[in-house]
Amino acid sequence: MKKEKLPFSKKKDGSLLYLIIFAVLFVAVIVRTIVSNGSSSNTINGMFNHSAVKAPIELSFSDVLRKSKDIKTMSIKGTEAKGTLKDGTTYRATMAYDPTLLEKISKNGASISIDDSKSWIEYLGTWVPILMGLLFIWWIFRGLKGAQSGGLSRTLIGQNPTRITMGKTKTTFKDVAGIDEEKQELMEIVDFLKNKEKFKEVGARVPRGILLSGEPGTGKTLLARAVAGEANVPFFATSGSDFSGIIVGLGVAKIKEIFDMAKRNAPCILFIDEIDAIGQRRSQHSFNDQDREQTLNQLLIEMDGFSNDTGIIVIGATNRPDMLDSALLRPGRFDRQVNIELPDLAGRRAILDLHAKKYKIAESVNLQDVARGTTGFSGADLENLLNEAALHAVRSGNKVVEQSDVEEARDKILMGPKKNRKMRPEDIKLTAYHEAGHAFVSLHYSDVTDPIHKATIVPRGRALGMVQHLPVDDKVSMTLAEVRANLSVALAGRAAEELFFGADKITTGAESDIAMATHLARYSVTTAGLSKKIGTVAINQANTFGQRVALENASEKTAEAVDNEIRVWVDNAHSDAFKLLSKNKSMVEKLAKELLARETLTGDEIREIVFGKKKTVKKAVVKKSNAKK
Ligand code: ADP
Ligand code: ZN
Repeated sequence: MKKEKLPFSKKKDGSLLYLIIFAVLFVAVIVRTIVSNGSSSNTINGMFNHSAVKAPIELSFSDVLRKSKDIKTMSIKGTEAKGTLKDGTTYRATMAYDPTLLEKISKNGASISIDDSKSWIEYLGTWVPILMGLLFIWWIFRGLKGAQSGGLSRTLIGQNPTRITMGKTKTTFKDVAGIDEEKQELMEIVDFLKNKEKFKEVGARVPRGILLSGEPGTGKTLLARAVAGEANVPFFATSGSDFSGIIVGLGVAKIKEIFDMAKRNAPCILFIDEIDAIGQRRSQHSFNDQDREQTLNQLLIEMDGFSNDTGIIVIGATNRPDMLDSALLRPGRFDRQVNIELPDLAGRRAILDLHAKKYKIAESVNLQDVARGTTGFSGADLENLLNEAALHAVRSGNKVVEQSDVEEARDKILMGPKKNRKMRPEDIKLTAYHEAGHAFVSLHYSDVTDPIHKATIVPRGRALGMVQHLPVDDKVSMTLAEVRANLSVALAGRAAEELFFGADKITTGAESDIAMATHLARYSVTTAGLSKKIGTVAINQANTFGQRVALENASEKTAEAVDNEIRVWVDNAHSDAFKLLSKNKSMVEKLAKELLARETLTGDEIREIVFGKKKTVKKAVVKKSNAKK
C-alpha cells in the first residue's frame, strides 16, 4: 500500500527537533560541569608543581581585608580574584562582593579590573536550567492551546501518536470470504462512492456512517478496507483507543485533524476501529470520562458537519455494540449497522479455501473436515490455523502441508501444545481405558452423536487424553435423545475407570467431563424446558458471569426440585454408560489396548475395531456424501 505522509507522521520530525535541542543543552551542562571541575583541579596541580614560576599564594577574604594596603593589582571575575602584591608575589583570593572594600583597595593605589563578562559555558550553566524550564512550560502550553483551537499540537500528538494508516488499498471483496450477506450490504456504499452523481440526482440519502459489529477477527477491518479497494478511494484507518491521552482536549484535536484529512482526500473511507473506546455510553463514570465525552461530542459534530455528498464514509468497528452511546446510532451518524457473525460451516470452508491458496497444501488434506472441526473459529483464527499448520510442516520437514500438520495446528490452538509430560504407566493405562469408554459409548449412540474424529492418550494442555468429535454440520439445537446420548458419552470415561479399576481407583481426571455433563443437564432442565418434571418454564439459575446463583424465578420448592432433577439426569447417564460398558467389556478392553499400543486412533480406525471392516466402509461413504452438501 502506498503510504502518503501525514501531518501526523510529520510531527515525529517535530519532536525529533525538540529532542535534539534537549540533547544539546544537556551536553552543554555536562561540559560545563567538567570544565569547572577541570579548572579547580588546576589549582591543586599548581600547588604541587615545582615550576619555575612561583605558584600564587592563596588568600582568604579576611586575608584580603588585612592586606588591602599591600595589593598592587587585582582582577576580579565572579568570586575569584587574582593579581600581584606590592612585593611581587602573585595571589589568588576568594572575594565577596563588597564595594567598600574595593574602594579601600583602590584608594591604596591598586589597580582593579572587574571582568563581568562570562564565558559561554558559564552562561549556559546559568541559563540552561531556566531555558529548559521555560521550554517545557511553553511546550505543554502550546499543546493545550493547539488542542483547544483545533490546530495541530504537534508535540503532544508526537508524544501520544495516533496510529493511522492510509492510502490506496488493493484489498477487494475477493479477499473476503464467507460473509456474503455482509458484503452485499456494503456493495451499495461502493456504488455510491463510485457513482455519486447517480445518487444525487435521485436525492437518495446515503448513510454517512456504518457500524460493523462482531467478534475480534471476524473481518471487520478487512471488509472496510475492501469497500475502499472496490470503490478505488483512499482508506484511512485509526483506532478509538488512540484518542484518549493524558491531556484533556487531545482527543478532540485528533478527531478534528482526522476529519480534516478525510475531507481533503474525499471521497474516501475513514475507518475507526474499537469505536467503543470513544463512543461508550456516557453514563458510565470513569477517571477520564470528561475527556472521552468531549472526544465523542467532537466526533458527533464532525459527522453532522459534512454534507451528504462530501463522499466521506465513516466505518466504525466494535465488538461491543451494546456499549455504544445511542447518540452515535442516530440518523446521519452510524445509522447503518452490519453485524458480522462468526462464520458457519460453509463460511469457514470458504475462508479456508481462500487462505489455502497462499500455502502449498497436499491434496489429501480435507478442508471440509477442517471446517467441520473448527466451530467457533473466526476468520482470523482460521488463517492462523493454516499458518500454524504450515509452520509445523516446515518444522517436521514436509515439503507441503499434510493432514497431520493441520491436525497438530488445530489441537494446539484448541487444547494447547503437546505435552512431553512424564506419566506413570498406570496413569497412561487408566487414561486409555477412560478414553476407550468415551469412544465406545459414543459409537453406540452414533445415530445421535457427532462422528468420532479421533481418540488419543497423548496429553495436551490440561487434558491427559481426549476423544474428539467432528460435527457434520453446525448445530443450532439438540434433540432430547441427543442430550441424553451426550450426557452418557461425557460420563463414560469415569464409568470405564470404575468398571476396569474398581470404585476406589477412580481419578480426578474426569473433572471436565463432569463439569460439562452438569452444565448440559442444568441447561436442559432450567433453560431449555427438556425435563418433564420441571416443565417448560425458564428458571434463572446463573448470573451474567455464568456463576450459579439462587433460583430467582423459583420458589424454594422448585429450586429443590431442579437440583434433584439435574442429579437424576446426570446419575441416569452415568449408570447408562456403566451398563453399556459392562455389557461390552471385552470390546472396550480391545479399544483401550489399541490406544495403548498406538496412542492415537482415527475415527475410522475406532469404527473398524468396534464394527469390523464392512461398517467402516459404509460409514466412510456416508461421510463423503455429507461432505459434499
Ligand atoms: P477484525 O477487524 O474483525 O478484528 P480483521 O479484519 O482484522 O478482523 O481480520 C483479521 C484477518 O483475518 C484478516 O486480515 C484476514 O486475513 C482474516 N479474515 C477474517 N475474516 C475473514 C474473511 N471473512 N475472509 C477472509 N479472511 C478473513
Ligand atoms: Zn473424559
